[in-house]
Amino acid sequence: MIAHDPLAAKHARYVLTPWAAQGGLDLPVIVRGEGVYLYDDAGNRYLDLTSGLIAVNLGHGHPAVLAAMHAQIDRLCFSPPAWFNDARAELGEALSRIAPWGDEGARAFFTTGGAGANEDAVKFAREITGRPKVLAGYRSFHGSGAGSATLTGENRRWFNEPANVMGHVVHFWAPYPYRSPFFTADPAEETQRALQHVTDVIAAENPAMVAAILIEPVVGSNGVIVYPAGYLAGLRALCDRHGILLILDEVMTGFGRTGSTFASETFGVVPDLMTFAKGVTSAYVPLGGVLVRERYATAFDAKPLPGGHTYSGHPLAMAAGVAAIRAYQEGGFFTRGRAIEQWLRAGLEAVREKYEIVGEVRGVGAFFAMEFVASRETREPLVAWQGASLGVMPALFAGLRKRGAYGFGRYNVMHVAPPLTISDAELDEGIAIIDAAVGDLAAAHAA
Ligand code: PLP
Repeated sequence: MIAHDPLAAKHARYVLTPWAAQGGLDLPVIVRGEGVYLYDDAGNRYLDLTSGLIAVNLGHGHPAVLAAMHAQIDRLCFSPPAWFNDARAELGEALSRIAPWGDEGARAFFTTGGAGANEDAVKFAREITGRPKVLAGYRSFHGSGAGSATLTGENRRWFNEPANVMGHVVHFWAPYPYRSPFFTADPAEETQRALQHVTDVIAAENPAMVAAILIEPVVGSNGVIVYPAGYLAGLRALCDRHGILLILDEVMTGFGRTGSTFASETFGVVPDLMTFAKGVTSAYVPLGGVLVRERYATAFDAKPLPGGHTYSGHPLAMAAGVAAIRAYQEGGFFTRGRAIEQWLRAGLEAVREKYEIVGEVRGVGAFFAMEFVASRETREPLVAWQGASLGVMPALFAGLRKRGAYGFGRYNVMHVAPPLTISDAELDEGIAIIDAAVGDLAAAHAA
């Protein structure tokens, strides 16, 4: 605990911090945000290299979104979710217009975050198809709620396993070109091998029992893994063949992160349901939801929708969402990731060339990661798996913090996903800080 800062001491004493062992946390107390910067109570500035948790896509304090929130606060702060509401109607329409279904459109069901959205999407898919099973990737994160953690493939699921409240969830391996069990020198062959694996899993599980495949179009918190060309299209074709619904979890990839409004557009794959959260309000108000393609939303015209929450379609979140979508559109931020991609790829590749511990730089749009290795040749991870530990990240985060930046990552992978509003000069500043912090890490591991 930081004894010299009474606010930090108070935080440590009274607040449980996510995913962390609580003893000895030594963290700044953030009190203000502006643009791409966060400020602590001592006045220190931190460049936000990962848009908070890859969510604050419009930067901190976008004035138009704040103005819309202020106006909504003055007018109405709660509206019963089972009645209609003006702001909710506006956001439903705005989402349908930017969703990947063209004139067919979609209907939105609102939650307060991504975990709930995935749980509700699975519930809807089961109702629509009348089938129980859901396939999800091992290298996935779909939330830490009881159901969403069961859908999650990686070890954050383990905490939940004794309770395992969501049944009929089956995991499969998707490609990870840098470390893939499907790897061949030919990406097309790798895609085929990975698709054959899913084909076999579906056959073994009985296709008539499978309601949905749930997948992040780019693996997010497990390392920004961009699938080889044709993989998502192949999943779409498998779903079509067996009457399985494709649910894209666009919680991290949505709202401009990959250089298009949604990753479904970036990769040319049309889902049946889509989950979203984070960037929908630039994370200013907690909001998530499920977009259900119109042809499937009609399943609930005659029978009741199986779900609802006190805060479904909360007016303040709705107003923030409507204003955020307008801000993305008016500022060109849905596609600004394409320019940021060039900048990040060049800048981070230059860092990779300097330090042997950087095994790979990968990403799409404004969504990048750096993977650290002990040997480029063998691709052995820089630090071995240590259960619940965060690998090399605590040391790297401390280095970033010392140099005025905030970042996010897990084990041997550091994310770089700045707000889409970042200027070229701020990108340069970010790359220079990353360069220095990775340099420290390399020196520590060389010692
Ligand atoms: N799905 C993905 C792809 C995510 O990255 C996350 C959170 O990081 C979630 C779901 C869970 O969202 P939330 O934290 O809002 O529950």
